[in-house]
Amino acid sequence: MTGRDPVRLRPLPRRIRPYPDETTASFIRRLAAANFIDPAQIRDLLRRPGIPPGPGLAILAGCGEQPLILAMPQLGAETEPGPHLAGRPDRRTQGIACHRCALARGAGSHVGIYTTHEKVSCPRHLLWLGTEVQEPGDQIPLQPCPDLPAAFRRHRNLIARLGRPAVCRGFAIATIITWRWHDQGRQPDSFTARLRALIPAGHRTWARHRTATAAALYPCVVGLTAAIASPAWAQTAHSSRPNDFLRRISLQATDGWIPQGQHDPLLHWMQTGWQPGFPGPDTLQPPGPPHIPPPTRDL
Ligand SMILES: [Zn+2]
Repeated sequence: MTGRDPVRLRPLPRRIRPYPDETTASFIRRLAAANFIDPAQIRDLLRRPGIPPGPGLAILAGCGEQPLILAMPQLGAETEPGPHLAGRPDRRTQGIACHRCALARGAGSHVGIYTTHEKVSCPRHLLWLGTEVQEPGDQIPLQPCPDLPAAFRRHRNLIARLGRPAVCRGFAIATIITWRWHDQGRQPDSFTARLRALIPAGHRTWARHRTATAAALYPCVVGLTAAIASPAWAQTAHSSRPNDFLRRISLQATDGWIPQGQHDPLLHWMQTGWQPGFPGPDTLQPPGPPHIPPPTRDL
């Protein structure tokens, strides 16, 4: 296993298949675990001269180069994403695949993947996959909160109508504001009900509490995103009629509570227009003109 001769690269005894959009580190970790070796040994083999990572991993895993690159485009030789990769994650956001889906595919329970900001739940198993999930055990079931699927649909509709760049940026801003409200002890009444439903008695560990908090805040984040990502409403927020914007927020995001006070994070955004560090949309874009969504007033 320590020689440098590329001719001697052979499939490892136990073969595995890649998971869609799996990170390279996750695939190497799973391949090493299946063969009871250290991941560093695989990385050392891939450093042999003349062996690109994609073909080298395909040989070691015994899964074929084409299926590997189809599942993990980062291992391909392309420097520009072609049309066939449009919509795939841009590899800036990492997460953990739904552990029940991963187990069903024979990939084990812990698979690291590239993902996009709106994929916060598994539509099949209704597990939380979004903020604060560090381990498969953090993927709490969402069935106790019947209003969450409606928020998932609203989020996808926002992307379809306003475009992914605007919703990505708005979601990042809305997430920061909503968590600051939470840290200040100000959150919608429905948040408390969702949190209690998501954390049954006897399961109140710190990790589960953080994950459940993220899921319980999500409808508020999406409601706020709808206003921030809308060009018309964002303009109203920074105009001489900010109360129109605040009334909308109270109706669609905060259960009637109107943000106010010197230290309110939404009022701070309205007054300063601060932006988070934002690298752009989180999917690969093929060469060509960007998609421009139709103008819309409200969602
Ligand atoms: Zn699933």
